[in-house]
Amino acid sequence: MSIHIQTSTEEYDVIIVGSGAGGGMASKVLSEAGLTVAVVEAGADFDPAKEEHRTQLRYPWESPRRGAGTVRPFGDFDAAIGGWDIEGEPYTRGSGSEFDWFRSRMLGGRTNHWGRISLRFGPLDFKRKELDGLGDNWPIGYEDVKPYYDKVDKLIGVFGSKEGINNEPDGFFLPPPKPRLHELYIKRGADKINIPVIPSRLSILTRPVNDERGVCFFCSQCNRACQVYADFSSGTCLVKPAMKKGKVDLYTFAMVRQVTTNDRGEATGVSYISKLDMQEYKLKSRVVVLGASACESARIMLNSKSKTHPQGLGNSSGIVGRYLHDSTGADRMGILPEMMDRDRYNEDGVGGMHVYTPWWLNEKNLDFARGYHIEYWGGMGMPSYGFGGGMDTMRKYVKDEFGNPGPSGGYGEGLKNDIRKFYGSTVGMSGRGESIPQYDNYCEIDNQVVDKYGIPVLKFHYKWTDQELKQAKHMHDTFEEILTNMGAILLGNKPGPENQYGLHKPGRIIHEVGTTRMGDDPNTSVLNQYSQAHDCKNLFVVDGGPFVSQADKNPTWTILALSWRTSEYIIEELKKKNI
Ligand SMILES: Cc1cc2nc3c(=O)[nH]c(=O)nc-3n(C[C@H](O)[C@H](O)[C@H](O)COP(=O)(O)OP(=O)(O)OC[C@H]3O[C@@H](n4cnc5c(N)ncnc54)[C@H](O)[C@@H]3O)c2cc1C
Ligand code: SF4
Repeated sequence: MSIHIQTSTEEYDVIIVGSGAGGGMASKVLSEAGLTVAVVEAGADFDPAKEEHRTQLRYPWESPRRGAGTVRPFGDFDAAIGGWDIEGEPYTRGSGSEFDWFRSRMLGGRTNHWGRISLRFGPLDFKRKELDGLGDNWPIGYEDVKPYYDKVDKLIGVFGSKEGINNEPDGFFLPPPKPRLHELYIKRGADKINIPVIPSRLSILTRPVNDERGVCFFCSQCNRACQVYADFSSGTCLVKPAMKKGKVDLYTFAMVRQVTTNDRGEATGVSYISKLDMQEYKLKSRVVVLGASACESARIMLNSKSKTHPQGLGNSSGIVGRYLHDSTGADRMGILPEMMDRDRYNEDGVGGMHVYTPWWLNEKNLDFARGYHIEYWGGMGMPSYGFGGGMDTMRKYVKDEFGNPGPSGGYGEGLKNDIRKFYGSTVGMSGRGESIPQYDNYCEIDNQVVDKYGIPVLKFHYKWTDQELKQAKHMHDTFEEILTNMGAILLGNKPGPENQYGLHKPGRIIHEVGTTRMGDDPNTSVLNQYSQAHDCKNLFVVDGGPFVSQADKNPTWTILALSWRTSEYIIEELKKKNI
């Protein structure tokens, strides 16, 4: 079989691979500077305002399975086109390793259905090694990223409150929504044990920021993607506006195989497989920016071997794929008797929590390093199919006046009474924390397996250490303290060492970062402080790959800020003719 590779004659200033948080921000900043840009995206075009894409405000019976059980990870109406497994795009794991990889193949990537929790890293988060001797410091500090966090806040919009907490820096906030009943109970319980509960920080518009985007009308469905663009996603808020204003060509269904290079080892463009005709195409550019997500960008670099880059592009250090790390995570639930049998009213809000707990023990010596924040959920959401599942089983946790648990199960009148009683009375909490990046947690190319486009796939090697296990134990102790102090009955059992203290598997929190980390030393890092490859001056990475450590914060606000910083650097370097 002969393979015909079609090469475009046009040369772009910049090719950006991937249109998620990192790629989307780069497309906006670079095109607004007058550069010609190609955004090469493996997934489909997507716009939640289009009737054929909209799942927001749909009734359960409008779903493909009319509301019956689904195999989709976050429900039938979740906006993700992708998931833990994508047909024809496998990945493998080393023996004894666990790692699950969530991918979305669509314009905007995973920002279409993410939680919109938009936290800045704090000053301590860039210099953790200085404090506990573990991992590495970033080559930059908070003061280097602050101006870009400020710009991201103002451009995209984030609500929150000024708290003056040193390592939880305040930003330019829109007004936050008020706490709901279950959130007031959480605050009351946490106050008793001196755990802070403050308004959450989510990139959802509670006030207008421009004429293109509407304001949140509290439907609680951000994971379905918002038809009035009141929640941030990269496709609707960055790439599409960039296409309207600047010279941006969007290539969809284009799966990048590798970055092409010349004899000097410089990037010359990319080659991709079109999912539409399975043919290979080449595009040329002066600069290549990878924003395909931390692991996928590492995969592209490792698959881009040449005479000058025999171990993969930008990988003379052997560090590409290394130091992969995800947030830690553990969860617990309770029922609050005071919220049982309560009046019904509309308690929907923004598509996420209205309050959260930032890490509060920086000053304490604990038996594990770093920390975690707590996300909260509960209350009365708009009922949908599957709602109330297992409510009858809650009876066993609620004792009668003689101290006996109520019998479980039931049909008809009994079941209706259970639902009336328990609906809206549950609360839950999730710790999301910082793990320590390890050299031995990594992804590499699996030479035995290719995807359906013929591209070699990734193999993951990952194990948690004692640090993360002890952190999960601490999370569960805290959850019990908060739940007990707010007057809740604990649901389920506290997990012990036999099940890793309830710590989720690596990858499950979907905050994977660190695979192309930045640093001053080309022997121990892949990129410099501007996310420019040490080995290839016109190659940049703008997703979570450059992270040296991940903080206890969700990563996307930092991906956006760093991508903006890198894009400004590219503009300056092009002007100076350095690249
Ligand atoms: C359910 C869920 C909830 C989350 N909640 C939060 C949260 O509340 N706060 C937070 O900070 N983070 C959250 N995250 C994580 C957040 O979504 C990611 O950090 C963020 O989207 C990463 O941005 P990115 O640009 O690196 O990659 P992505 O958003 O994954 O985008 C990468 C893009 O590249 C494309 N691509 C991949 N490979 C190729 C290729 N070979 N060729 C061409 N294109 C390619 C993909 O199709 C995709 O569009 C959540 C994620 C999920 C799934
Ligand atoms: S909660 Fe608000 S921002 Fe989210 S989808 Fe509904 S209206 Fe849009």
